[in-house]
Amino acid sequence: MRPRILFVGAGPTGLVLALCLAQYNIPFRIIDKESGPGSSSRAIAVQARSLEYCRQLGIAEDVIKNGMKVNTGHIRQHNRRNAVFPLGDLGEGIGTLLRKTVPSVLPLFLQQHGRRQTIFNTISQVKVSYESSRMSEGKAGKVRSGQRLPWVAGETEDNHAPLASMDWQVHVYGKAAPAVIKFLPFPVHEFTWSRAAYKKGLKENVLYLIRPDGHIACTAKAEHPEILTNYIEKWKLQLIQGEQ
Ligand SMILES: Cc1cc2nc3c(=O)[nH]c(=O)nc-3n(C[C@H](O)[C@H](O)[C@H](O)COP(=O)(O)OP(=O)(O)OC[C@H]3O[C@@H](n4cnc5c(N)ncnc54)[C@H](O)[C@@H]3O)c2cc1C
Repeated sequence: MRPRILFVGAGPTGLVLALCLAQYNIPFRIIDKESGPGSSSRAIAVQARSLEYCRQLGIAEDVIKNGMKVNTGHIRQHNRRNAVFPLGDLGEGIGTLLRKTVPSVLPLFLQQHGRRQTIFNTISQVKVSYESSRMSEGKAGKVRSGQRLPWVAGETEDNHAPLASMDWQVHVYGKAAPAVIKFLPFPVHEFTWSRAAYKKGLKENVLYLIRPDGHIACTAKAEHPEILTNYIEKWKLQLIQGEQ
C-alpha cells in the first residue's frame, strides 16, 4: 500500500510516532534533512515518562540495557554538596525506577531554590495532559479525564503493563460486574483495589476508559457503564488491533 502519512523530521517525536504506526501496521514515510544521527548529545538522562512510552513500544528494556548506569547523584550549590542520592537501581527495571528512584530523588531536587525553575520546566514537559480537550469527559476521585493514567504497583504486575497493547481499554480498580464487562466493547482490566491506587487519586470500582496513549479519556461509576458506551459511540471508537 502507498503510504499516505509523511513524517518530516526523524527526531524522537517523529521516530516514536513512526514506531507507533508501525505497531498498527499503518504505512508511512519518514524523512529528515540530515543524512544521519545528530552528533551532539541530547540524551544525558531519560525521563521516567519517556521510559513509560518506550515500554509501550516494547523497547524499554533495550533502552535501559544500552544506557549507562549512574550509581550516585550529587546535588551541589556554591561548591557545597547538599545531597547525595543513590541511583544504583536505575537500570534494574522500570518498576523500580518509577517506584523508588523518581519519588525519592524529586523531593531532594525540590529543596534546592536554584533548581526549582528547572525542575518546574522539566515536570511541566513530562506532565502533558489534555483536560480541556473535548475528548476528555468526567472526573473520579482526584483524577480527571485527559490526565495520564497514574502508575500503580500491583502484586503481580503494575497497571501500566496492559498499555503495551497500544489500544483502547477499560481499567477498574476493584471489581467490575461480569454484565458490565460483557457490555463494554473494549478489554476490561481489573486491578485489586489498594492503598497505592487510593494514594494515586483513583477511585474504587470506577470505570476508566484509557486511550491508546495511556491517558484517561472518560470515567464512569460502575452502575453507569452507558456513559462509556455513549462516549465510544459518540467518537466512533473501535479497537485498533481488532482483538479482545
Ligand atoms: C543540548 C541538549 C541536551 C538535551 N538533553 C536531553 C536529555 O538528556 N534528556 C532528554 O530527554 N531530552 C534532552 N534534550 C531535549 C531533547 O533533545 C528534545 O526534547 C528532543 O530532541 C525533541 O525531539 P523532536 O523530535 O521534537 O525534535 P528534534 O530532536 O529537534 O528533531 C527534529 C528533526 O527534524 C529535522 N528537521 C527539521 N526541519 C526539517 C525540515 N524542514 N525537513 C526535514 N527534516 C527537518 C531535524 O533535522 C531533526 O532531526 C536535550 C536538548 C538539547 C538541545
